[in-house]
Amino acid sequence: METIILKGKPVSLKIKDDLSLKISDLKKNNIIPSLAAIIVGDDAASKLYVSSKAKAFSKLGCHSEVFELPSDTSEHSLKEFIEDLNNNDKFHGILLQLPLPKHLNEKDILKNISPSKDVDGLHPENQGYIMQGDPRFIPCTPLGCLKILDYYNIETKGKDIVVIGRSNLVGKPIASLMSQNFSFGNGTVTLCHTKTKNLHFYTKNADIIIAAVGVPNLIKSDMVKEGSHIIDVGINRINDPTTQKGYKVVGDVDYESMLGKVASVTPVPGGVGIMTVTMLLSNTVDAAYNQSL
Ligand code: NAP
Repeated sequence: METIILKGKPVSLKIKDDLSLKISDLKKNNIIPSLAAIIVGDDAASKLYVSSKAKAFSKLGCHSEVFELPSDTSEHSLKEFIEDLNNNDKFHGILLQLPLPKHLNEKDILKNISPSKDVDGLHPENQGYIMQGDPRFIPCTPLGCLKILDYYNIETKGKDIVVIGRSNLVGKPIASLMSQNFSFGNGTVTLCHTKTKNLHFYTKNADIIIAAVGVPNLIKSDMVKEGSHIIDVGINRINDPTTQKGYKVVGDVDYESMLGKVASVTPVPGGVGIMTVTMLLSNTVDAAYNQSL
């Protein structure tokens, strides 16, 4: 079987084309979609993610500012900082880069972002809207997965879908969305995690697998059904002395072993990762539009 490689780039380009039109419309009314990104501490990966997001914003003529706060920032002062951004009309979206230093309670702090500026879709109010089937902001990575499925015309209606991983960021929202009565949903969804007794049983019977686990190459070809579709959300660094950096990035899926067996698979890198930044842009443009009404 020929396996289609579900690259993120063409999907992202198509969405950015559509966004350019919306951004020009907003600019005609002197509105430039703007994002405030907050990083607490010195995590190198977080800084890299945020700078790639900032670059994507400026490429599309949008605005972003990165606020770097010291790692010993107290919960009280972080909440105050967020409140100032909530009240600052210059910013339409607020992104709090995770993970936060250990002394800060992520769930509690995320609640302080104004739901109308919560472009990462992690405020309980926005997660509740997803559960009710009336999404406002869908977290960027699950939204990116849905856009990939849509772009490549992968039918979800009536399909057996296995989501592996139950984080608020990825697994739970995508499992909820794909089980609902939407054009990109209507699947029969099974949500697996570390207490799942026989992961192999579920993956082997799935038409679509979405892996958001954080375990390199967990899903092997003997765990999947021939002709299935695989969306690999995982981004994992593994040692590789043959590369200049000494490591390489792999997904949760043993990509090479899927080729020739499954109908389609996302590569890592080059699949879902690209979409996450694009969907942050998209959510911020939507936020700017909604706040202009
Ligand atoms: P997370 O919060 O650590 O959640 C991981 C989930 O996987 C948990 O629900 C955990 O189960 C489950 N799990 C772990 N090991 C498992 C196993 N052996 N079998 C079955 N389930 C297992 O991670 P996350 O934030 O959702 O991220 C998941 C992966 O996606 C990571 O590699 C991350 O880097 C990547 N990611 C990529 C993007 C992107 O832009 N492409 C964005 C976000 C995240 P329990 O609940 O039982 O612990």
